[in-house]
Amino acid sequence: MHEHTPIADGKAANRSGRLADWDGDKAAAFLKQAANLLCEHMASRNDLTQPVVRLASPAELAVAFTEAGVPLELRVGEDAASMPRLLAALGATLEHSVRTAHPLFLNQLYARPEPAGIAGDWLTVVANTNVHTYEAAPVFTLVERAVLARLAVLAGPSWAAAHDGLFVPGGSIANMYGMHLARAVVDPDSASRGAAGGPCLVAFTSAQAHYSYLKSARVCGLGSDNLVAVPCDASGAMLPAELEVAVEAALARGGVPFFVGATAGSTVLGAFDPLVELAKVCRRHNMWLHCDGAWGGACLLSAMHRGLMDGVELVDSLALNPHKMMGLPLQCSVFLARREGLLQSTNSSNADYLFQPDKLHADMDLGDKTIQCGRRADAYKLWLTWKALGDAGLEQRMDRNIALAAHVEARVVASGGAFQMVRPRSFANVCFWWLPRALRPFDAAAASPEQLTALGKVAPALKMRMQQSGDAMIGFQPLDGLPNFFRLVFASASALRFEDLDALMSRMDALGLELFP
Ligand SMILES: *Cc1c(COP(=O)(O)O)cnc(C)c1O
Repeated sequence: MHEHTPIADGKAANRSGRLADWDGDKAAAFLKQAANLLCEHMASRNDLTQPVVRLASPAELAVAFTEAGVPLELRVGEDAASMPRLLAALGATLEHSVRTAHPLFLNQLYARPEPAGIAGDWLTVVANTNVHTYEAAPVFTLVERAVLARLAVLAGPSWAAAHDGLFVPGGSIANMYGMHLARAVVDPDSASRGAAGGPCLVAFTSAQAHYSYLKSARVCGLGSDNLVAVPCDASGAMLPAELEVAVEAALARGGVPFFVGATAGSTVLGAFDPLVELAKVCRRHNMWLHCDGAWGGACLLSAMHRGLMDGVELVDSLALNPHKMMGLPLQCSVFLARREGLLQSTNSSNADYLFQPDKLHADMDLGDKTIQCGRRADAYKLWLTWKALGDAGLEQRMDRNIALAAHVEARVVASGGAFQMVRPRSFANVCFWWLPRALRPFDAAAASPEQLTALGKVAPALKMRMQQSGDAMIGFQPLDGLPNFFRLVFASASALRFEDLDALMSRMDALGLELFP
């Protein structure tokens, strides 16, 4: 079924019905069919009988796309595809993609997106607007400002009084903004001079911090040698006394300590650094305190759990990732600073083709505060989701994730030895082993190298079998010399029931006994 649109000037361009040449009606007809396909996908997202993934090798995927009439490779001289072919391409892509909205996708810190978030994201694509100037993006500029202001209120009175912020492409970039601003404050000349010839700046994070701090240290020109990993307690939280020791050591080497990258909700263990105590060390040594709340920052939404972030009123900057526990589609990430005007003074380039000061409403422009030029309207989907769920809805879905994690922890503890916690749970991360009978009970400190090696093979083997059958996706990793364990994380698990988790653990136990009799 090829579509043909005659073109007035008789150009041959449209022989195969190129979408680019379609008028509004045809474009709309195509998009409606595409949207139908996407909505059907949404409609089945609670269906536990659907596989989380249809596991396929790269070669199998290549065959599947070729059979659908849309080979993966783009050949030189590629023909314009018909509308049915394009719809087939969309279908094949969904069919072979991981169903991250499936209730049993528990693999990562992002999961099922909220429908309002999806609609908001679609709208930003259709509007196709760049949030650099009010002139180009009046609504999105005001919406971004409104969402940032609401997030500042959420972070507490000290933030509501004065804040600055941006939606940025990812939590990693938000952490980098924190380091970047801290450097601008301690060494303002670095902007023109560069890193060479300046003070030897030293930054500190916990040993459990996200690797984006490492990348930030490289990109900002500190170098990884000047990023110090501070030891943690058993829960994975940074030890303030150890921070003090590390700062003194850096000073003794002639370094200039300037930045502490704390973590609220670490990626593996879900640990929360003690912000109040860290702030004291920072004040003593005149260091910037940034809080990476990419994972745990969502607990600000919850009366029950926000105590985990005590001290957030004292930090200088904050990273949040609404695309994790708030259930927004990727990407939706926020950087907030507690000092008005610092983003502008640090990043402004005053490009006079874009940010003309004498233009109407130029004071509303957000673009000159960023290190980007083009920037998506990521605030919009969060605004719409907030409108859709309200404060109470956001709080409930947050609390639900923690309740599910607590349920699994209780099951692990009551399992009679089949499952065992690696570390006590702090947040929505449940880190546990399934143990072969011969290794029960497991004591890591007393285990032989052979036992550690044997246990290290269990989680990968179990995970592979679960992926092959399309069962729940759960991540695993080793940590600090401990062999591979499962990390069950509840990012956006509002569709899961306790009994679904009980059934999952029974299946894991049965599969484990089959693989490791
Ligand atoms: C996910 C995560 C990040 C990185 O966020 P991205 O949006 O993936 O760049 C940073 N810190 C923590 C603690 C995270 O869990």
